Amino acid sequence: MLAVSSKNDALPHTRVRRTSRLYRSPAWGVADQPDFLNAAVLLETALPPRELLDELLAIEREAGRDRSAEAVRWGPRVLDLDILLYGDRRIDEPGLRVPHPHLHERAFALVPLLEVWPEATIPGRGRAREALDALGAMAPIEVEALG
Ligand code: ADP
Ligand code: MG
Repeated sequence: MLAVSSKNDALPHTRVRRTSRLYRSPAWGVADQPDFLNAAVLLETALPPRELLDELLAIEREAGRDRSAEAVRWGPRVLDLDILLYGDRRIDEPGLRVPHPHLHERAFALVPLLEVWPEATIPGRGRAREALDALGAMAPIEVEALG
């Protein structure tokens, strides 16, 4: 996220419209690891979804992420750039699913998403705000804004 937002020219044919604060939350998936830091950016882009994903994966590699060396899924990683939503599109292709399949169950993604896009809708599921409210009804939301 910071890799995308710190330089407005990191992604071709793309403008950063809004950047959320950084949020800290307990690690998800594999609990015995350091806290996660998350943020969201709202982009305006001429890149089709697949090209956007390829650019994001290239930025992850430049940041030093080596997926082949990751022993456990959802373990510690240098950087994880995900496409949460792409307008109101629904995409289900090998290696590319939009909305991101875990978005509605991850407060750490919904909270920063709502900061940059309060009216966001998760196609096929409804308002992002309502997804977050549903999570909050099940368990406390442990997502803390930094600064
Ligand atoms: P996650 O992001 O689910 O925690 P990874 O970062 O390891 O896990 O993602 C694994 C693969 O998920 C990526 O190689 C990418 O091809 C695929 N993928 C599918 N849909 C998306 C999406 N919307 N955003 C980012 N990656 C995605
Ligand atoms: Mg990812």
